[in-house]
Amino acid sequence: RRAHAASSFKFEDLQVSLTSNPQPKPDPEKLLFGHQFADHMLEIEWNLKTGWGHPIICPVHNFSLHPSAKVFHYATELFEGMKAYRGVDNKIRLFRPHDNMIRMNDSAKRASLPAFNGEELLKCLKKLVMVDQDWVPDSTSTSLYLRPTMIGTEESLGVAESHKAVLFVLSCPVGPYFPTGMKPVSLLADPKYVRAWPGGTGWTKMGSNYAPTISVLNAAHDKGCQQVLWLFGENHTLTEVGTMNLFTFWTNEQGEEELVTPPLSGLILAGITRQTLLDMARQWGKFKVSERNITMKDIIKALNENRLKEMFGAGTACIVCPVERISYKDEWLDIPTMKDGGPVVSKFLKDLTDIQYGRVSSEWTVIV
Ligand code: PMP
Repeated sequence: RRAHAASSFKFEDLQVSLTSNPQPKPDPEKLLFGHQFADHMLEIEWNLKTGWGHPIICPVHNFSLHPSAKVFHYATELFEGMKAYRGVDNKIRLFRPHDNMIRMNDSAKRASLPAFNGEELLKCLKKLVMVDQDWVPDSTSTSLYLRPTMIGTEESLGVAESHKAVLFVLSCPVGPYFPTGMKPVSLLADPKYVRAWPGGTGWTKMGSNYAPTISVLNAAHDKGCQQVLWLFGENHTLTEVGTMNLFTFWTNEQGEEELVTPPLSGLILAGITRQTLLDMARQWGKFKVSERNITMKDIIKALNENRLKEMFGAGTACIVCPVERISYKDEWLDIPTMKDGGPVVSKFLKDLTDIQYGRVSSEWTVIV
């Protein structure tokens, strides 16, 4: 097993077979996340005996899998989420894609799925985006979302390592997350729901972390909230919001302006947007930047003392998402994020989109 785990497919072996039936592009005004797919996908098979096969770019097609395939029973699956942006100079860019490759291999290790060379996958991914470049929408509020995925396909029941796997990448054009400007959300913070725990898999992007959150999201909707604020432990420590990392900007108890986000303790995903906001805020040097835990008690105290200024989620889908209310213990907490225009959250949104759409050059972007 180890010998194969160290091996990888290679970009130089890539085979491309183009569709003879290209699909019409969707109306850029009516893009619904994850519903329309570009013409081609990347697909790479693996099995324990022979290792990785050749990467193939081919028309998007259905899989034929035996009903006993491990993925159907034990959720042997992981994925990534990243975007290709068409810049103001018409060049297509990826944003910190090496980090997605590293995180995908980290998830693969925890899921007992095979390792691969991330740089080789990145080269294949760039080729996929080139092949479907006409699917990268032409505006600075849209993008082509890329969904690298790996599934365990061995045809056998039994909780064990899958001796067969498929790595594939789909892509879909996506519209603006906030078509009419940043829209603040309300959060349900109910400690009876837990997303992740010490020693668990909350830090990976395994599909098995996500299915159990859907009924909790429905409970949030029932309470008039758009997202879930995931708490952990006796002190109701804040961890993440929906599928985003969480940031709080406040004046702390020592009287310092501080941007706080939870540490990478294993409970949260190491978001690439999270790391980017930390890096940018440290570059600005305008306020203290901390990776540390805060609790609901800290939030309530700060609200009562008028010290809490902004709270927002951060992730690839929306970049940043301001929070305006939290439902906690059958009370509503009003969060004043956008009261004074949300200067911190707004600057993050502007500075990051400037880089992603090529208005400002940055070492974080990779031109396709
Ligand atoms: N947390 C979770 C649970 C997520 O699914 C995501 C989305 N990948 C994030 C945070 C944000 O990560 P990123 O900034 O890499 O999109």
